[in-house]
Amino acid sequence: MKIIMLGAPGAGKGTQAKKIAAKYGIPHISTGDIFRANIKNGTELGKKAKTYMDQGLLVPDELVVDLVVDRVKQEDCKNGYVLDGFPRTIPQAEALDKALTDLGEKMDYAIDVDVPDENIVRRMSGRRACVGCGATYHLEYAPTKAEGICDVCGKELILRDDDKPETVTNRLNVYHEQTQPLIDYYTKAGILKTVDGTADIEDVFQAIVEILGA
Ligand code: ADP
Ligand code: AMP
Repeated sequence: MKIIMLGAPGAGKGTQAKKIAAKYGIPHISTGDIFRANIKNGTELGKKAKTYMDQGLLVPDELVVDLVVDRVKQEDCKNGYVLDGFPRTIPQAEALDKALTDLGEKMDYAIDVDVPDENIVRRMSGRRACVGCGATYHLEYAPTKAEGICDVCGKELILRDDDKPETVTNRLNVYHEQTQPLIDYYTKAGILKTVDGTADIEDVFQAIVEILGA
């Protein structure tokens, strides 16, 4: 089961991807998480990616594609995976298709978590991420048990730099210009499924399970 999560930044791709990964026992591959881990570890890739991420821009395709193609060839991906935040441009989607074709494989589903722009700013300004394990919460919609403390590992929560309102507008523009065309791309490929991302987290997940099968 090979799944792509599509949707605006803050639509709930990561939230749903984690639930899909847990239910179906497949890896969750988030390019944003990979970049943030590289930034935390001070790698060359992290340094390069940060200059783009801080401005709400996409990291150039050439820094992303090989990373994902290498990742999906790993042993733990043999029964499938859920891609979260990749592809984000048509060239990335084409490169992924080519790599899969070379392996004799194909993508099964592209799930678009549909949330209007009006809801996105509130989603992102309330998002909190754990500095330790990267778990994601929301002040209003997915609060922690103890305020400001991660339920999973007990570490502190932060507002991501790129979730600050001044960057969110840029990220939304970038989404509409560069990523939204993928909805057409995967419609034409016959694998696009759309879910209403404005529903509660559990209701969105139920809609996804109906698509993927129990
Ligand atoms: P993405 O991975 O698409 O950027 P996230 O999964 O991190 O988005 O979700 C963005 C924020 O919105 C998080 O704080 C998350 O807890 C919250 N969230 C996710 N799904 C929903 C939902 N269906 N309703 C309300 N809040 C949600
Ligand atoms: P995310 O955690 O998915 O919201 O991603 C955070 C940031 O990482 C994005 O705003 C981009 O700057 C960068 N990024 C993540 N995935 C990609 C990708 N597939 N292509 C280009 N940039 C990406």
